[in-house]
Amino acid sequence: MNDSLPVSSFRRAVWRWTRTRERPLPWRGERDPYRICVSEVMLQQTQASRVVQPYLDFLARFPSVSELAAAEPADVLRAWGSLGYPRRALNLWRTACAVVERGGFPRSVDELVTLPGIGPYTARAIATFAFDAHVGIVEANVRRVYERCFGSGDMQSVADAMTPRGSSARWNQAMIDLGAEVCRPRDPRCESCPVRSMCSWDGVLGASKKPAPPFETTLRFARGRIVDALREREATRAQLLRRTNLPQMRIEDALDALLEDGLIHRAGARYALGPSARERSRPTSLTK
Ligand code: SF4
Repeated sequence: MNDSLPVSSFRRAVWRWTRTRERPLPWRGERDPYRICVSEVMLQQTQASRVVQPYLDFLARFPSVSELAAAEPADVLRAWGSLGYPRRALNLWRTACAVVERGGFPRSVDELVTLPGIGPYTARAIATFAFDAHVGIVEANVRRVYERCFGSGDMQSVADAMTPRGSSARWNQAMIDLGAEVCRPRDPRCESCPVRSMCSWDGVLGASKKPAPPFETTLRFARGRIVDALREREATRAQLLRRTNLPQMRIEDALDALLEDGLIHRAGARYALGPSARERSRPTSLTK
């Protein structure tokens, strides 16, 4: 497949496009692996525009990996604020603990991926943005551009083939921007797309999906309400019922899920934010 890719012309078109615009995001051009790690974890499942302020606030509170590792998990969860998916905050703290324990961030994808909380995508992002490792990254925006241009298949090998040696960080950032700004999921701006002549997308947005249930009825909503309630202070089940206004059954399910994820713990009859002291004492052995 890679032999048939129009590598040179695709790269030329994307480079030309990057010269015409600049996306003012605070993590653009960042080389510090800790700050990259924070931005990448926050950008998982959250739009870039929503991440900007929480990213700046989080780094103001925890400016270095050692300061994050030394923090109480409950404080990290509080600092995560309303960004959502708070499990990411706990994973970030676990990553920081492991990095401090080993004396710094590793540089290769193979080593980065062994850190708790770091998946293959984040490992590649840190390797390329911090250390300019020659790897392509495939997050949702990049995948969409490559798939629309070259069809489905192994997009990681397409990304690796397209990524120019020596300019990996710039290239991967350019591809993320192209997907986010031009090749958008629902309304792609094909008329101003630099790779339009190489694109084979037929314009069909996929079969209509069953509409998602209202957010207020989801487990994620209930989990969020409980985490918000516990941010202020610990509480019993009865107090949580009053504070969250959720039905008993939904409280039970959400508490079980939060306990299992280590986002909260139980001390006697009360629930509190963060993992228990026992879980905290073995951060690097926890699962991703
Ligand atoms: S031509 Fe349209 S669908 Fe194809 S890559 Fe460009 S924006 Fe995406």
